[in-house]
Amino acid sequence: MLDLLNLIGGEYREAQNGTWLDNIDPATGQIFARIPRSGKDDVAAAYTAAESAFPLWSRTSIEKRAACLRNLAHIVSQNAEALAQAESQDNGKPLSLARAVDIPRAEKNLAFFAGAIEQFPSEAHIPAGPTHINYTHRKPIGVVGCISPWNLPLYLFTWKIAPALAAGNCVIAKPSEITPVTAWMLSQWIEEAGFPPGVFNVLHGLGPEVGQAIVEHPGIKAISFTGGTSTGAHIARTTASMFKKLSLELGGKNPAIIFSDCDFDAALATTVRSSFANQGQICLCSSRILIEDSIYDRFRDALIEKVKRMIPGDPLDEQTKMGAVVSAAHRDKIIQHIELAKSEGGQLLCGGGKASAPNNRCEDGFFVAPTVFENLGANCQLNQQEVFGPVITLQRFYSEDEAIQLANATEYGLAATIWTTDLKKAHRTAARVESGIAWVNCWLVRDLRTPFGGVKASGVGREGGWEALRFFTEPQNVCIEL
Ligand code: NDP
Repeated sequence: MLDLLNLIGGEYREAQNGTWLDNIDPATGQIFARIPRSGKDDVAAAYTAAESAFPLWSRTSIEKRAACLRNLAHIVSQNAEALAQAESQDNGKPLSLARAVDIPRAEKNLAFFAGAIEQFPSEAHIPAGPTHINYTHRKPIGVVGCISPWNLPLYLFTWKIAPALAAGNCVIAKPSEITPVTAWMLSQWIEEAGFPPGVFNVLHGLGPEVGQAIVEHPGIKAISFTGGTSTGAHIARTTASMFKKLSLELGGKNPAIIFSDCDFDAALATTVRSSFANQGQICLCSSRILIEDSIYDRFRDALIEKVKRMIPGDPLDEQTKMGAVVSAAHRDKIIQHIELAKSEGGQLLCGGGKASAPNNRCEDGFFVAPTVFENLGANCQLNQQEVFGPVITLQRFYSEDEAIQLANATEYGLAATIWTTDLKKAHRTAARVESGIAWVNCWLVRDLRTPFGGVKASGVGREGGWEALRFFTEPQNVCIEL
């Protein structure tokens, strides 16, 4: 049994109340670790440590801050296999996916923001015939909170902490209580990477307890949050009268728009991936597949043939492409969505419930068969609510206008995928679709310099590149008489 600890002011500590939470392997249903069930007192201790580290860290040279991040990136790369194994065990995702995506991206996030802070520009405004000159001084904010979800644990954890630290802030980070292990591993390398004690603190525990205490702490001046829309709304309400900076990356109900002039094979292969990668537990996954009438039947039949071959396997098996979903509670929530869709008259094309365990080791694991529905109207629950699992719907459209109307017919607006070989149509559709990201003839291609985030109920603010560094700094206008 592994006991994880908080990192506070350079020390590894249990929760002050002495209580623990079990951590479960979703592929086997077995408890394999415990985490501290931290609360307000632990947040207060972390804040004291972070506040006292801030004056020095905020004045530390950019080169030194960047060097610490690069050191940490290097340690991650040296421990990539151990991290991938831990991520797979903690989350249920295929080991192959953790090796190919999660851990390399975590390393890249750290290295990217090391480089970005060295290039981060600031503006100067010099009017003609000047009497005054203005420049913008971007200062670190102070102590900031970073709260991340369970679906891409280390990937999203580092995506937040790297720009926060690069910009000169001290961080109190909380990984999801469901997938805490890789954040704990990272916390053990902080000193080796060169970060002074208190600059980076990690607290484990439940969202409504320790997460809430971070959000409510009056000294923590900014919160970068990725998670569900209802939690994001709750955080916005909690902080409304506290004037904190907020970055909210929330849920999605993403459309894939398949026009009849698409490259059929490419659209098909990528749509299978964009729908079911990580068991559909990526905020960017396509969950509403909109297909133009003239190719609807052919596309549907080819898709179903491929999906039927996707059988959930043991995440540790090298061949497995689809693993376990993250918890028993999440599996049950996905099944409820499926049952509701059946009761709303959805035509089940494949899947439709739990998948059988791939082997004896996994007999108590949490597996869901990839599921496809058709004949559900745009207003049905399954076309409106985020499932965050391996469940998609197919809808037919007859015109470009109707495709866009269906694509925009939810409260969400995170990502859209557009498949067409007509360049003008691609531009037109991307411009009219209500989403923070529009991928044309591709999916999940990420250049870390680009703004990342959603519109409508998918969030407020953007991450990535300068956007993240702007979020984690406070701009001050300095005006000088000449
Ligand atoms: P939650 O909103 O339940 O949790 C996200 C994080 O917030 C977790 O660390 C959680 O802790 C914590 N938390 C929960 N309640 C509070 C609170 N009251 N105050 C502070 N922190 C709290 O989301 P999930 O973890 O279930 O993640 C899935 C959701 O995340 C999906 O909706 C998905 O779309 C979204 N997501 C969005 C992304 C984006 O970039 N837009 C990317 C990835 C996911 P704990 O888990 O310990 O309870």
